[in-house]
Amino acid sequence: MKNSFRCWAEVDLHALRENLAWIRHRVGPKVRIMTVVKADAYGHGLKQIAALLMQSGTDIFGVANLAEAHVIRNVGKGWPILMLGACLPDEVERAVQDNVMPTISMPAEAELFSKVATKLNATVRAHIKVDTGMGRLGVAPAQASKLIRRVQGLASLKVEGIYTHYASSEDDAAYSRVQRERFQELLARLADDGIRIPLVHANNSGALLHEPDTMFHLVRPGLLVYGVLPPGQRRMASTLHSHLRPALSLKCRVSLVKEIPRGTSLSYGRAFVARRRMRVATLTAGYGDGYLRAASNRAQVLVGGKRCSVLGRVTMDQMMVDVSRVPTVRPGDEAVLIGRQGGDEITAGELAAWCATVPWEVLTAISYRVPRIYRGSQAA
Ligand SMILES: *Cc1c(COP(=O)(O)O)cnc(C)c1O
Repeated sequence: MKNSFRCWAEVDLHALRENLAWIRHRVGPKVRIMTVVKADAYGHGLKQIAALLMQSGTDIFGVANLAEAHVIRNVGKGWPILMLGACLPDEVERAVQDNVMPTISMPAEAELFSKVATKLNATVRAHIKVDTGMGRLGVAPAQASKLIRRVQGLASLKVEGIYTHYASSEDDAAYSRVQRERFQELLARLADDGIRIPLVHANNSGALLHEPDTMFHLVRPGLLVYGVLPPGQRRMASTLHSHLRPALSLKCRVSLVKEIPRGTSLSYGRAFVARRRMRVATLTAGYGDGYLRAASNRAQVLVGGKRCSVLGRVTMDQMMVDVSRVPTVRPGDEAVLIGRQGGDEITAGELAAWCATVPWEVLTAISYRVPRIYRGSQAA
């Protein structure tokens, strides 16, 4: 696909559709799917991804702020939206007006929502968050039933959901078990007290792979929707994830090719010095595009279908790679930073490992400067 961009992301909508279908297959027909689309749909472009997911069977959207909720509302009406963070006091009115379901951890939050909803003559469907060990949001399990009763007693508020969040679902089976048991014990106590809540949920992507016993009524995958596996220590049955395909590729171009003699240093700080004569290509992407500077001297890219090492520091708009093994390389050629070329593939997870970070950061770092190009938009 020929274009005139220096650095761009290609998003394969067909892959996204299939990933969602795989998640649907994995959880079965009765479990609802909340696709998590915070941070511009993990860097894929919220507007287009929301439209695609609406067509492909998402039940609910999970967002990080009200601007994201607003984008979704403008794409299509009728989909429930859950705000995964706590609302700021001055966001409450807009959340109620936009019919965004809030996450409630404290009585004071619920009281404010009740007051505003009553004033606006609206009903708010709240999700109670329980802190089983993440330590970010949520009520302590011991306080949860008191909070729920309080919320149920407030005007204009309904308890629509109850949920928790795993801190280490892809890495730590023992800690996940502690969290799972805390949540399950609480649910049993609530049932004993006659408290019924329509939507119970816990599983993010890692837990969707590793905690089949906590699918409950709803799952909340982010990363898996985009076809990227959460990195982690827990072993997976190998067939589980083989159907997932990364939707996003990040590409740029070769702008210059040159031979350098032994002893030449490259880029800022002279962090790379050539130990032999080599052929070097300058590429049209840098940390200004969101290609992490931590990739300096560590990562690889694909040029001419071959893996080429990043040489020296990544700069704002450009970087250098070793193309000694690619004799045919010419200015204008495509370089792949994430994705496939020839028979090889560099995944977001692999790039993240080189950068000592996680694929979530690699994807969401891709900056506004990078146009997103969508493929496979026709209905399947
Ligand atoms: C971001 C987020 C998710 C999705 O996480 P993934 O690991 O990307 O699947 C689910 N639940 C909550 C509360 C989140 O903040």
